[in-house]
Amino acid sequence: MKKQLLLLMLVSATLSACVTNPVTGESQLSLVSEQQELAIGAQQYAPARQSQGGDYVVDRELTAYVSQVGQRLAAVSDRKLPYEFKVINNGVPNAWALPGGKISINRGLLTALNSEAELAAVLGHEIVHAAAGHGAQSMSKGILLQAGVAGAAIATQGTGYADLAQMGAGIGAQLISQKYGRDAERESDYYGMLYMVRAGYDAQGAVDLQRTFVKLSEGKQQDWMSGMFASHPPSQERVRNNEALLATLPKGGEQGVARFRAKTAGLMRSKPAYDAYDTGRGALAKGDVATARRLAGRAIAMEPKEAQFYGLMGDVEQKNNRLKPAMKQYDKATSLNPDFFYYYLQRGLVSERLKLAAQARSDLQRSVTLLPTADAYNSLGNLARQDGRLDEAKGYYARVAGVQGALGKQAYGALVELDLNDNPGKYVQVKAGRDGQGRIVAQVSNPTPRSIADLVVAVQFNNAAGQTQQIERSFRGTVAAGSQQLFDLG
Ligand SMILES: [Zn+2]
Repeated sequence: MKKQLLLLMLVSATLSACVTNPVTGESQLSLVSEQQELAIGAQQYAPARQSQGGDYVVDRELTAYVSQVGQRLAAVSDRKLPYEFKVINNGVPNAWALPGGKISINRGLLTALNSEAELAAVLGHEIVHAAAGHGAQSMSKGILLQAGVAGAAIATQGTGYADLAQMGAGIGAQLISQKYGRDAERESDYYGMLYMVRAGYDAQGAVDLQRTFVKLSEGKQQDWMSGMFASHPPSQERVRNNEALLATLPKGGEQGVARFRAKTAGLMRSKPAYDAYDTGRGALAKGDVATARRLAGRAIAMEPKEAQFYGLMGDVEQKNNRLKPAMKQYDKATSLNPDFFYYYLQRGLVSERLKLAAQARSDLQRSVTLLPTADAYNSLGNLARQDGRLDEAKGYYARVAGVQGALGKQAYGALVELDLNDNPGKYVQVKAGRDGQGRIVAQVSNPTPRSIADLVVAVQFNNAAGQTQQIERSFRGTVAAGSQQLFDLG
């Protein structure tokens, strides 16, 4: 009976999950409702942008322009969604769409384009990903949900902050770096070009864009390969597909070369400053502090309004153990861009080292509201512990303890220290058994990174009369970290 009922429920669930794709008109499986799509987009858009470098705020008119082009295409798409378009402060050429129409393009892709029509080709492609629900389809197929959604540490791509363990943005981070598959990419190229024509653009822009991609990928610049080409492999096939479709489309749309040049003039002019910054980040990551300082200085001289450059200079000072000068650089960075997590995180960590607990706490808390990181939570744990707020400290350490790497281990150790007396069963396993002589023994396993001493083992047993009795045995000595030991229960 039970089995049949379950089977019926599954069938009806599958039936109700078949929906018509608003872009292609085809019927397809969807286990993710539109409401869920909208919720994922709304929740993940901000942290996903933070994790990639934050919004590009030096030239807000540029974002307004990109948004204008995007909305012109969104208006003719087959699905009404709360579309949004942002420019991310990241030199890696990349663009992505989250479910619900939340779309971003990196600064580094804009500088590789030549016309508004090419920009429209990028945004049209991403609009189709959102409109056709490609992200939701991947989720329905279970592609995304397998790999560590909970508490996974995801490196922040292309930002140069790769050693930061980002937390809690698992699904968003996966959605923006996933491969949709060749069919979805072909669909996005195809309908993206139709949207371009509907919006009055010359679809030639989509062919030019693919040619540019192929040319650039032949040079195999590492930036390009780590960015959008990881999820969008450029190929002659994509060029040919676009050319074939172009031949069937009406001619004479807008290319917008002059307008694109005018709107991106500032960005193009400051590109050498950002190149210097990227090289400087790379140098610092390799421990070449002198080169990093020189390049940060050069970048600041060329574009004094960019917060990232002061962030790099702050990191250089910090590396040299010049904490107060580092603080000044982060002050400048937060004043230029008060909406990016990284400067608060770094200033908080410096404040912690300078024993400015209140300042450290306020900065670190602000950083985790923008983007949760293991680094911030670990330091918040340390600060709470120093203040004697032990439950709060345990809460912070528990978040970090699941993260891979040194920080996760450290936080797990701190959590064990604070929580072991209250919840020994969470950390230590005890099994009863007999040894070779037939004596009752307790096997105590300690998988934690801390040695454990002064154990008391409670033993419950039924006596000859069938009554439950309990005795306690105390043991001297320690069970070393990661070891197990037998204790004679006597
Ligand atoms: Zn794509």
